[in-house]
Amino acid sequence: MEVRRRFQPRAPGASPSHVGGARRPSAAPAARIQASDALPLPIRHTNLLFSAFFVGSLVFLMRRWREKVRSSIPLHLLGLSEIFAIVGLIASLIYLLSFFGIAFVQSIVSSHDEEDDFLLSGPAPAAPVSSPPPAAICPLLCADASAPAPQKSPDVTADDEEIISSVVAGKTPSYALESRLGDCRRAAGIRREALKRITGRAFEGLPLDGFDYASILGQCCELPVGYVQLPVGIAGPLVLDGRQHYVPMATTEGCLVASTNRGCKAIAESGGATSVVLRDGMTRAPVVRFPSARRASDLKAFVEEPNNFETIALVFNRSSRFARLQGIHCALAGRNLYMRFCCSTGDAMGMNMVSKGVQNVLDYLEKDFDDMDIISISGNFCTDKKPAAVNWIEGRGKSVVCEAVIKEGVVKKILKTNVPALVELNMIKNLAGSAVAGSLGGFNAHASNIVSAIYIATGQDPAQNVESSHCITMMEAVNDGKDLHVSVTMPSIEVGTVGGGTQLASQSACLDLLGVKGASLETPGANARRLATVVAGAVLAGELSLLSALAAGQLVKSHMKYNRSTKDLSKSAS
Ligand code: ADP
Repeated sequence: MEVRRRFQPRAPGASPSHVGGARRPSAAPAARIQASDALPLPIRHTNLLFSAFFVGSLVFLMRRWREKVRSSIPLHLLGLSEIFAIVGLIASLIYLLSFFGIAFVQSIVSSHDEEDDFLLSGPAPAAPVSSPPPAAICPLLCADASAPAPQKSPDVTADDEEIISSVVAGKTPSYALESRLGDCRRAAGIRREALKRITGRAFEGLPLDGFDYASILGQCCELPVGYVQLPVGIAGPLVLDGRQHYVPMATTEGCLVASTNRGCKAIAESGGATSVVLRDGMTRAPVVRFPSARRASDLKAFVEEPNNFETIALVFNRSSRFARLQGIHCALAGRNLYMRFCCSTGDAMGMNMVSKGVQNVLDYLEKDFDDMDIISISGNFCTDKKPAAVNWIEGRGKSVVCEAVIKEGVVKKILKTNVPALVELNMIKNLAGSAVAGSLGGFNAHASNIVSAIYIATGQDPAQNVESSHCITMMEAVNDGKDLHVSVTMPSIEVGTVGGGTQLASQSACLDLLGVKGASLETPGANARRLATVVAGAVLAGELSLLSALAAGQLVKSHMKYNRSTKDLSKSAS
């Protein structure tokens, strides 16, 4: 999740926390720092404890003072129990006020932030009564003059009709429908109807009903008008680390699921695959500028000093119970310093979490380095959603190796080829061919096919397919040249099982199928790591199958069979 706005440069004399008099941008659009993140206990328990304390003290004092009034004892003569009750009352009041008060203030502040964002990037704001016609408001949408006249839907109520007309006229901003109506489904329906009238397009194939629009509000998608349907196929069982996984893949590419399924079968019949997670850490690299390269190097030396690192880690880790800073990798470009923070993030993919931690550290560093100009919380040395050698070499998210030994008989029977042909093809195509192409992390046949399909099915961020698909596939003949050792090494698989799209109904069902839904109760992060190994295992299966098809010269034939369907299902199943 990239941060879109650049930090304001500091005005001379401005206080560190209010740079240039402007409000600090939040770490990421969806990043909401909650007071609860600072607490060591589960928040529910702490809240219950203090609420009970508050009510108990209050009831005790009321009763006590009623007795005193009745027996004419002065109220200011306090017994020990009353003093305890008053202290308890004040302490719990302070806790409850600061906890709920901060959350309340944050909700107001963040809702204002969101409003600003929408104003920057959303559709036209409310126009005066004499607003121009729709075509002038949205020239791009209305560019097609040949569009048919807008059709009114028959089931639009009078109330809705008024709002739709107001949206079409530009008087009601489309982005504000959810908050004004308090009904997400109705808001989506009205926006859709307004869009229909503005564009003259019916987009009937895009369904509206059958989706929980409340579940995406403020989290997954803005300005919804419907949802895209994608088929989900199942490959498996993928036998990995002694467990069976049925792998959900959302794709419209014919052959992909069938091919991965064939690879899974070859792995299973050879006794299964094994995996190892080498690293687990999400990164974010802000860029800061100094008056000179020397000053930039001073900060580099400061953060690299082990004692300072400990303090920085304490500041960073306050962002969440799950964020634990692992290291900071610094690089200079002239007087600009790029600090690549790496931290574990539990079962979350972790971009929000790491961004919050980085923001804490920048606020802290500003106090000692007052000539530091924060250019951006993301300086692209992270590197998120762009091909970059740093991810390939250092890793990002989970770094996983997955391997299997495929028996000679299985290579012949299921993969319809032989071991020397596979080894040779892998060397000439995946290694030499990718080297000729100057590839960056692309030493594989089609890792991104499998990564993208699983990411979409399980609610991951599909844009992170860029670095998550970095993969080198190795094949060697083993056991006297009879069997095939195959492995995939994937240094930057960025996945989570909480947060983002993982909580949506369909995606959550797919995670559940894999047995990795939500947060791991035993070991935070275990579910996300297991999901990363499943991704690598499925890539292993996909590599095996596609390379085998290429080696056997079957690729075009099988694509003709699955992509140019004759609807003869018995053929496909064979
Ligand atoms: P991301 O950082 O991947 O963008 P979010 O910030 O959307 O993810 O979601 C992470 C949220 O989930 C945090 O508020 C975190 O406190 C909460 N959470 C609950 N359980 C876990 C867990 N086991 N691991 C990580 N985060 C968790």
